[in-house]
Amino acid sequence: MEALGAQRLLQCWDGARDEHPLRRALALLDAAWPEVGAARWGALPLGARDARLIALHEALFGTALETRVDCPACGAELETPLSTGELATPPAPADDPPPLVEDGIAVEWRLPTSDDLLAVLEADDDAADAAERLLARCVRAARRGDAALAPQELPEPLIERLQQAMAERDPGADLRIALACPACGQAFERRFDIGSHLFGALDDWTERLLDEVHALASAYGWSEAEILALPAARRRHYLARIQA
Ligand SMILES: [Zn+2]
Repeated sequence: MEALGAQRLLQCWDGARDEHPLRRALALLDAAWPEVGAARWGALPLGARDARLIALHEALFGTALETRVDCPACGAELETPLSTGELATPPAPADDPPPLVEDGIAVEWRLPTSDDLLAVLEADDDAADAAERLLARCVRAARRGDAALAPQELPEPLIERLQQAMAERDPGADLRIALACPACGQAFERRFDIGSHLFGALDDWTERLLDEVHALASAYGWSEAEILALPAARRRHYLARIQA
């Protein structure tokens, strides 16, 4: 965390806290690796994006992920300790996927990215429509023989095959965790959104940091900028002295 700097993390939190969770995740990546360029993160397949978010969580807050989930059967709240290692998935190949050919139709396609999801979200909030729009963005070309087909002309079974091919090629795009309720024994699965989780951890960290700034400013009269410029270990030493 100190590698990234308290000041920059706090700026990221300021700028992104009211944004959509997807934009928050991209803002975190940009803050951590500014040399990459903000636009690059939005254009990454989702699995590759999430792998970097997992790495960032490890660098900032460690490998432990606390999850709190309600059991769908009995409603009990489960606190499941999880480690970032359990979320590891094989990365999607970097090259273009081979065309999908079925029933005489050939489809050239690519994996969905955050930019695609954002475009779909901003266009419409109807879920069924959203899936179609996402697919349309990811179909580069479709043809039956010499005739070009629009994405909306693709038959339903082919669309399902395409969605399946996307999931197989980028297994990290849909992180899931397997859970079992200790109260009623129900086994179930949940999506795990590493971006939201990471921003939640940043929220908690910010709360603690602002408490520290408040305590040190009150005791020593230092400015926020002066306190944030201190390495975390030294902040803790001063805090220990005023709390003694
Ligand atoms: Zn239960």
